[in-house]
Amino acid sequence: MNDAAQPLLIANWKANLAPGEEVALAAQIATLGATRRLSPGSLMIAPSMVGLVAVASLLRREHDALKLGIAAQDCSSDLAGAATGEIPASHLLGAADAVILGHSERRARGESGSLIGAKLARCVAAGIRPILCLGDADPKATESERCALVVRQWREVLAGAATLGCDVATVLGSGVTIAYEPVWAIGSGQAASPDVAAAVARALRSETSSSSLRILYGGSVDGKSAAGFLSPTGEGSLNGLLIGGASLQAERLLEIATAVGVAS
Ligand code: PEP
Repeated sequence: MNDAAQPLLIANWKANLAPGEEVALAAQIATLGATRRLSPGSLMIAPSMVGLVAVASLLRREHDALKLGIAAQDCSSDLAGAATGEIPASHLLGAADAVILGHSERRARGESGSLIGAKLARCVAAGIRPILCLGDADPKATESERCALVVRQWREVLAGAATLGCDVATVLGSGVTIAYEPVWAIGSGQAASPDVAAAVARALRSETSSSSLRILYGGSVDGKSAAGFLSPTGEGSLNGLLIGGASLQAERLLEIATAVGVAS
C-alpha cells in the first residue's frame, strides 16, 4: 500500500455502478494511470461489495505494477457465524486492503458511533486497515464547534471499539486513517475550505497525541480544489483525499492525481 510520504487518493464509487461497469472503469483508470505515470500505491478504489472481488482480481492480474489498493465500503460488526447477509472484516482479507467505516451515508441509515467502533475493532483484529469517516453536518458551525463535534465522534467510535477489547493504542497502531468529510460538502459541489480541514486535522492530532495520524479530506473535491487540501503543513496537514463523484470518470480522477503530484 502507499507509503506515508505520498498523498493517498481513495475513489469511493458508492452504489453508482453495476459490477460490470466497475470492472470496466477500473480497467480505464489503470490504463490511463499507466500512461500518466500514476505513482504506485497512491490510489485505492472502493467498489461495491458485489464488484470488489472482480475489480481486485483484474487489477492484480493485469495492472499489478500500479499497486492500486482496494477498499470495501463497509463491513460487519460480527466476527462470523450466524449473521445472514453480513460480511465480516476477516472475510475481506485477501480481496480488500482497507475498509471505509462510518461514512455519513451509512450514519444517515442509523449507524451509531458505537456500531462503527465495533466494526473498527473487527477490522483491527483482522489486520485490515480502517478508513474511518468523521464529519460535521452544519455548514454554519464555527470552527471550534466543528472540531468539538468531530472529536466527539472519534471518542464515540473508540468507546464502541473498547467494548470488543480494542483500546486506543491498538486503534492508532493499526494504521487507522481518518477521512474528515463534512456532510454538507459531500455531493454538494461545495468543498470545504482547506483551512477548515486543517483545523479539524489539528484537533484530531491533538486529541490523539499522534502527529503521524493520517487524515484525508473528502467532500466535492475536483481537479481544481484538490491541491489546496494538500498545502496545509504541520499538525494541520492532510495526507490525501476521499473522492466520490469525481472518481466515476477516469479522466476526472487522473486530473486530481495530477493536481496533487502523484501523476503527470
Ligand atoms: C464521499 O461521499 O465520500 C465523497 C467524498 O463524495 P463527493 O466527492 O461526491 O462529495
